[in-house]
Amino acid sequence: MNVTPDMTRTTASTAEPRAADADSLKRAIVEKLAYVVGKDPGHATQKDWCTALSMAVRDHVVDAWFDATRRGYATRRKRVYYLSMEFLIGRLLHDAVCNLGLEDAVRKAAADLGIDYDALVGQESDAALGNGGLGRLAACFMDSMSSLGIPAYGYGIRYEHGLFRQRFHDGWQVEEPEDWLVSGHVWEFERLEVAYPVKFGGHISFDGHGRTYWHADETVLAVAYDTPIAGWTGRHVNTLRLWASKPVEVLDLRRFNHGDYVSAAEKTIRAETISRVLYPDDTTPEGKELRLKQEFFFTSASLQDLVRRFVSEFDDIRQIADHVAIQMNDTHPAIAVAELMRILADEHRLPFAEAFEITRKCLSYTNHTLMPEALERWSVGLFRRVLPRHMQIIEWIDYHHLAEVQGRNVPVSLDDIRIIEWGNEIKMGNLAFIGSHRVNGVSALHTELMKQTVFHDFHTLYPDRIVNETNGITPRRWLYECNPGLRGLLIDAIGDGWVGDLSEIEKAVPLATDAAFRERFAAAKRANKIRLAAEIKRRIGLDVDPSALFDIQIKRIHEYKRQLLNILETIALYQAIRRTPGAEWTPRVKVLAGKAAPGYHMAKLIIKLANDVARTVNADPIVGDRLKVAVLPNYNVSLAEVIIPAADLSEQISTAGMEASGTGNMKLALNGALTIGTLDGANVEIGERVGPDNIYIFGLTAENVAEIRKTGYNARATIENDPTLRAVLDSIAAGAYSPDDPGRFNELLDRMWNVDWFLVSADFQAYFQRQREVDVDYRDATRWTERAILNTAKVGWFSSDRTIKGYAKDVWDVDTF
Ligand SMILES: *Cc1c(COP(=O)(O)O)cnc(C)c1O
Repeated sequence: MNVTPDMTRTTASTAEPRAADADSLKRAIVEKLAYVVGKDPGHATQKDWCTALSMAVRDHVVDAWFDATRRGYATRRKRVYYLSMEFLIGRLLHDAVCNLGLEDAVRKAAADLGIDYDALVGQESDAALGNGGLGRLAACFMDSMSSLGIPAYGYGIRYEHGLFRQRFHDGWQVEEPEDWLVSGHVWEFERLEVAYPVKFGGHISFDGHGRTYWHADETVLAVAYDTPIAGWTGRHVNTLRLWASKPVEVLDLRRFNHGDYVSAAEKTIRAETISRVLYPDDTTPEGKELRLKQEFFFTSASLQDLVRRFVSEFDDIRQIADHVAIQMNDTHPAIAVAELMRILADEHRLPFAEAFEITRKCLSYTNHTLMPEALERWSVGLFRRVLPRHMQIIEWIDYHHLAEVQGRNVPVSLDDIRIIEWGNEIKMGNLAFIGSHRVNGVSALHTELMKQTVFHDFHTLYPDRIVNETNGITPRRWLYECNPGLRGLLIDAIGDGWVGDLSEIEKAVPLATDAAFRERFAAAKRANKIRLAAEIKRRIGLDVDPSALFDIQIKRIHEYKRQLLNILETIALYQAIRRTPGAEWTPRVKVLAGKAAPGYHMAKLIIKLANDVARTVNADPIVGDRLKVAVLPNYNVSLAEVIIPAADLSEQISTAGMEASGTGNMKLALNGALTIGTLDGANVEIGERVGPDNIYIFGLTAENVAEIRKTGYNARATIENDPTLRAVLDSIAAGAYSPDDPGRFNELLDRMWNVDWFLVSADFQAYFQRQREVDVDYRDATRWTERAILNTAKVGWFSSDRTIKGYAKDVWDVDTF
């Protein structure tokens, strides 16, 4: 079942291919255990074995990495630099093993040593350096760029603490710090010699001979940590370079010698704070100054690094755009526009206008949200204090851009296109747009809405600049690695070409009507459901029946994603079952998982409601196995890998127009779940590919939503006309799920009756009806499996390889393999 590894790789020391058979691996593992971990097999813990195994596999990755780096320098191909505040990488061992084609050998070596490979894989900590979809996209893109042989660097921050660990205490979310580095991270290489100064604050002077100086009042060092990211078959390996902040001077010896030990260490603490924590929110910038410093910190270090690499290879800085493509993942690195100009103008002495042209040719920007509260803005006061030279450069860009537009006689609103809004705030989306040669949306619908709303006037001015690159997911992690059952039967039936080229999975379409294949597909799904049932039991002690319909909603908790709609429907179903328990019910297990931003009160209240409803429903003997609700704590990549292969139904029920793309929807469909969803984000394109019979679309369209919001929505009237929904809300108000505190959800109910901005009540009836169709359809197991197979077979287009090929052609102008 393994793919033949690429044997052209040589070891760093011998110029011979490294032996990849089970015996050699076994020797390597024992050697690492002794000489790197310092343990003998008799005393090694699971964690020790995991480290030893990872080190042995890492050698293979490093061989391929060196080859790729040498090739990159030799061929002088254009490089891609992917700047992202977040990389939601997840565990790396199994990923590397699979991509290098070592799985059979590694499993055999582990078995010979008497250790359980699958258990070892679970020992690795899950690198959660991101919040959700945006960070996971960056991780899938790293995999695809390597798999397609694009020379690329991912640049981000090496947060000491990634996204918080979530626990439930009495049903409420409790956050605990994540410390993924504490037990050692074997995949990274510290590069203490690769360090750049990053400056903050201070003032600017001109020397009278055309030179500008920035006299900062704070400088920190950005130190590189490199993780090799191997692509499919290991033919190419790229680098994920994450920056940690360190003090320029280790210790203030003068203060120390005066006995002032605490303040002697103060600068160290201040400097290291910058890369200490990931902001646990991907929609609103919090902790303003530190957040701004984080953004500049990693952007500045990355640009200094890539300019240094360019200068070491080429003579003329004015040619940099021919050799470098820089992608800004959302506006978090948008300060790159001003920083690259500063480097070109202040350090390389190019005229401003020329520096700007080059900057624009290098940069491009991906927009991820249209929600006004999520579009980054910085107050001019704060910005000028932290980045005085960049403030000046942005003023220059804004002034010259507006002057140019004024001369063009195209009717646009000044408010829509200026960067500095009446001297008050800097709009980072506008800075990113003006400083980029391409701006892309992440689904067809989102790109269209971008043109109509946030960037309407920009689109009038620059009709060729906005392009669409619908998001994708890597089929390696999200099928090959996480779903070995389905992987195996696909390889038996259609070969393994789909792993490197997911469009080939379409060969499985005819198998949907092949009874023997259907049976094997259903058996694989059932095995995955048994695995998830065991995980549910282990995590929350709940027994669920694997033959029930597994109905899954996993994603960040946010009002626009409408977990509340799902919970209200759960209550309606619960009430219906209690009324007539003897009717023909389709047993269902609802699985919910996701984290709420710690400061997001409503989202946390929704988690509490989910847990209160779950407790009530799961304990009700009248309902029994007809309905179970599993709310799983601490959703992350590793948990997703267990849940997704077991899904029958995928909940993608956001208010239309609000989910830019979604990628969870793609992962679930690829693993044979049918989607119930609104016409939002990439659901639209999934529906086009799987066809209307194989998806459950319901509710308002983005156009309907815009219309309703313009005229004003009457939630009260809708609820009063919907007896099912009314009974649901009344039961919550009566304390049916919170007898200890009947008023607990008043705030939530009050919003439902009086505002309902996310239009939960407007879509409730359509959603409830669609769910009852699902109930009926699921009972026809043959037909359901047929449609599940068609979902798997028809969503090959959503591979992140396809997305990256789009960027390579439309945005970066680079070749793939
Ligand atoms: C894919 C993924 C997401 C994004 O899910 P959406 O449903 O698109 O919001 C978030 N978190 C994790 C861990 C993921 O794997």
